Amino acid sequence: MSNRTLAIIKPDAVEKNVIGEIIAKITQAGFKVLGVKLTKITPAIAGSFYEVHKERGFYGELIAYMTSGPIVPIALERENAVEEFRKLIGATDPAKAEEGTIRKLYGAGIEANAIHGSDSDENAANEIAFFFAKSELVNINS
Ligand code: UDP
Ligand code: MG
Repeated sequence: MSNRTLAIIKPDAVEKNVIGEIIAKITQAGFKVLGVKLTKITPAIAGSFYEVHKERGFYGELIAYMTSGPIVPIALERENAVEEFRKLIGATDPAKAEEGTIRKLYGAGIEANAIHGSDSDENAANEIAFFFAKSELVNINS
């Protein structure tokens, strides 16, 4: 099992000025930050990141949203990182997310839901490599 996952603080949460609060929730849950950057992505890059969703009705809007302002990709490490991080962020729709989860606390709606979390170990590795060169990551355990 891989111990890494990729988070992205999405444009709505950056706009709300809660980058610090969200990173505090993440580190309080036992995750270590291996890499973090503030960046703005182009529609081509967002389209490539969300390629798996290209047949879904919300794809075009999702790309517009993810390119509407800066985002904060964060490479994270923790035991059972993917599953534990999905629990910490809560359901895709903040209205359905459990109390205390990051999406419940900071998400505005099913699209502008404050944060991304990888959904499998394989995707986590690919998504971390998508945003970070190996030389940009701190190797805490190696
Ligand atoms: N999304 C949306 N409408 C939907 C479902 C998803 O706008 O009906 C957006 C939302 O920002 C979500 C992202 O597309 O986080 C990716 O969707 P996915 O189903 O992978 O949800 P996640 O894994 O982020 O919970
Ligand atoms: Mg997903």
